[in-house]
Amino acid sequence: VVRIHDLHKSFGDREVLRGIDLTVAPGEVVCVIGPSGSGKSTLLRCVNLLEEPTAGSIEVLGAEVTDADVDIDRVRTHVGMVFQQFNLFAHLTVLENCTLAQRGVLRRSRAEAERVATANLERVGLADRAAAMPGQLSGGQQQRVAIARALSMDPRLMLFDEPTSALDPELVGDVLGVMRDLADAGMTMLVVTHEMAFAREVADRVVFMDDGVVVESGPPDQVIGAPLEERTRTFLQRVL
Ligand code: ATP
Ligand code: MG
Repeated sequence: VVRIHDLHKSFGDREVLRGIDLTVAPGEVVCVIGPSGSGKSTLLRCVNLLEEPTAGSIEVLGAEVTDADVDIDRVRTHVGMVFQQFNLFAHLTVLENCTLAQRGVLRRSRAEAERVATANLERVGLADRAAAMPGQLSGGQQQRVAIARALSMDPRLMLFDEPTSALDPELVGDVLGVMRDLADAGMTMLVVTHEMAFAREVADRVVFMDDGVVVESGPPDQVIGAPLEERTRTFLQRVL
């Protein structure tokens, strides 16, 4: 689903990604961990060209997104993205947030879009809040709406960038629960997270990044449970 080869990204003369290789297979859940500033968000943003890579190749759903003639909008249609900040439209209801792109991008009828949105709101446990405005919801509920909105586009890949790190601790569990259900349902997911317990339980593979490179990657029980690299051990000692 995703195949990244020798990805480099610089901002000015600062090289933030220094040769990343990473693949995500169909149905796989890959969690990216690493210190602040190591380039995790930049990597995720390169996958759907929110950042332009400086060098290297990124294949997403069979399309080479670094090709000049790629139809990036078509690729993005199939890639759901959930950020730390929920980015809901504050002036639209929960239901409208979940139907807008379905109608505008996928050209679904209002009835069809509402049917799909309602099913996905049910999936994240918020069907009863469809008529609410985002500002009336807790942060955890807003993030679950953001997930339902992304799912309503029938994504073939979901990208998550620290979806729980802006939440009060007591709201984190609900959002991680929704993500766990998604993983169990077979969704292909690339997740940047600081939640080590989640990564350990849900990830098929964990990738530890530091200073713009992948230091080590492998099954969670290895990378988190018995890391081979000193830099990984140092990081885990600080966060666990
Ligand atoms: P965090 O865990 O804090 O979210 P991160 O691993 O996601 O960190 P990035 O956000 O990818 O790290 O940032 C990596 C480096 O790139 C940082 O030094 C950051 O300051 C720099 N950077 C990110 N975006 C830009 C930008 N648009 N312009 C200049 N520098 C940037
Ligand atoms: Mg980040």
